[in-house]
Amino acid sequence: MGEVSTTQDVIVGSGAGGAVLAARLAEAGRAVVLVEEGPKVSKADFTQREDAMYGLLYRDAGNQLTKDGAISVLQGRCLGGSTTINMGDCVASPEAVLEHWRQHFGWGDWGGITNADIARASDRAMADMGAGPIPDALYNRNNRLLEEGAKKLGLKGSRLLHNRTDCLGSGYCLIGCAYDAKRGTLLSHVPRALAAGAQLMADSRVDRVTLDGSRATGVVGDGFDIRAERVFLCAGPIHTCGILARSGLKRTELGRFLSLQPQAPMTALFRDPVDFHRGIPQAWGLDGSLEVSVEHGLGGFSIESVSAGPGMTASLVPVPFDRLGPLLSKYRHIAAALCLVPDRPTGRVVWGKGARPAIKYASTPEHRERLVQALETAARIYLAAGAEQVLVPTPEGLVLKTDADVAGIRELPLRSCELPLISAHPQGTCRMAGAGEPGVVDLDFRVRDSEALYVCDASVFPTTASTHTMVPVMAMAHLLADQLGG
Ligand SMILES: Cc1cc2nc3c(=O)[nH]c(=O)nc-3n(C[C@H](O)[C@H](O)[C@H](O)COP(=O)(O)OP(=O)(O)OC[C@H]3O[C@@H](n4cnc5c(N)ncnc54)[C@H](O)[C@@H]3O)c2cc1C
Ligand code: SF4
Repeated sequence: MGEVSTTQDVIVGSGAGGAVLAARLAEAGRAVVLVEEGPKVSKADFTQREDAMYGLLYRDAGNQLTKDGAISVLQGRCLGGSTTINMGDCVASPEAVLEHWRQHFGWGDWGGITNADIARASDRAMADMGAGPIPDALYNRNNRLLEEGAKKLGLKGSRLLHNRTDCLGSGYCLIGCAYDAKRGTLLSHVPRALAAGAQLMADSRVDRVTLDGSRATGVVGDGFDIRAERVFLCAGPIHTCGILARSGLKRTELGRFLSLQPQAPMTALFRDPVDFHRGIPQAWGLDGSLEVSVEHGLGGFSIESVSAGPGMTASLVPVPFDRLGPLLSKYRHIAAALCLVPDRPTGRVVWGKGARPAIKYASTPEHRERLVQALETAARIYLAAGAEQVLVPTPEGLVLKTDADVAGIRELPLRSCELPLISAHPQGTCRMAGAGEPGVVDLDFRVRDSEALYVCDASVFPTTASTHTMVPVMAMAHLLADQLGG
């Protein structure tokens, strides 16, 4: 099996969950090994070239798809996990979502953890990353257009909090920050963990957990065998359940209850340059259309401005090839937003013998209706902001020029694969649930009926936690560290 090493705690994955846990446990004096499948990267590696960076930093070079090919499931596969390639927006779980989990998934009083404790854990996660308001100087025209258009329609939204310091507004956040400004775990928690003595093993894919009866005794991968007193799986919702499946866990709930929170892009062309690729990409979001209730959790929709390099932009406007060139020649005039539509946890990840899972997901009619509403609203916002054209990303390339044209969106068949949907927030597959409720993980983060084996990443959420999931995951890691005396 290769080299054998021994530690107290082995943590799999260095993203939002794993790195926070590694920092907290190492600082508490535990011997920690942090194992990361992806490469050890730093600002020197971030060349700002899309062709090289997706391959270096993303799972499957950004091509991880649902089984039907309809949704691109984006995840980081590098040191810092998805926090290295994310947009840096910091949003905590709304209290109504937490109440939803307490009432519908047996969380009850969650062993005495109150909503105030969770709020404190979220604040702590934000403070760790130096989170704060996005300054005016970095607030670009792309964001202003969305905000102005929404205001004209009387729609509510707000500027987001972010985790950047000394940001130059270069706009390359999705392919790694070459200026050490975006303070994901690569710059916040991983260095803290290492300073406290944690050992990092990058380029090391964990295959499975070893068990002695129900007790976890370590992890093994290609060329390494780590013996540990406790094992923490933080490999993200698609891969943590794979490690558990390969380790022989047979629970029927494993891999189920996946939310993808699909997002549809919407683009518009303005007469004057927008230069959406400069400045902070995602700084303003419509939040008045979100519906958060104790009964249903997160619903409704939000719309947030976004930008992308020419490569990703081309992949998200599925116009025929002969029209792609002319459109991209207007790259500086493009404004773009993502319509984010929280879903129900209806998906499933199935791991067979291969190295890749089947990510099964089918949209429901209710979700499709909210997606249509979000697209209609985004179109109206851009027209109110003065767009010459709004481009609805369908194969036919629906072009809207007036409010009356917006009705065309509802007539689209919107079959699977017709809209280029993205998931940046996969959640679930190892649901945390109270006693008697279907789930994989107990309320103390322990895998059910096991000892010394924990899951702490976006896998544990019973339903979608927030419009942005980094801070909710980090808050969970802080709460677990508190429980363990870290
Ligand atoms: C493009 C993009 C933009 C986003 N923007 C935002 C945003 O602005 N704000 C926000 O709050 N959230 C955002 N998110 C989501 C947020 O980053 C994630 O929800 C969060 O990082 C999830 O944390 P995690 O610990 O579950 O997994 P991750 O952060 O994805 O970390 C999992 C780690 O485990 C490693 N791993 C997987 N399998 C193995 C294995 N077998 N062995 C060893 N290591 C393994 C992976 O390589 C990865 O490094 C974005 C995500 C993406 C992809
Ligand atoms: S916009 Fe700021 S955080 Fe994003 S890549 Fe540029 S300098 Fe880094």
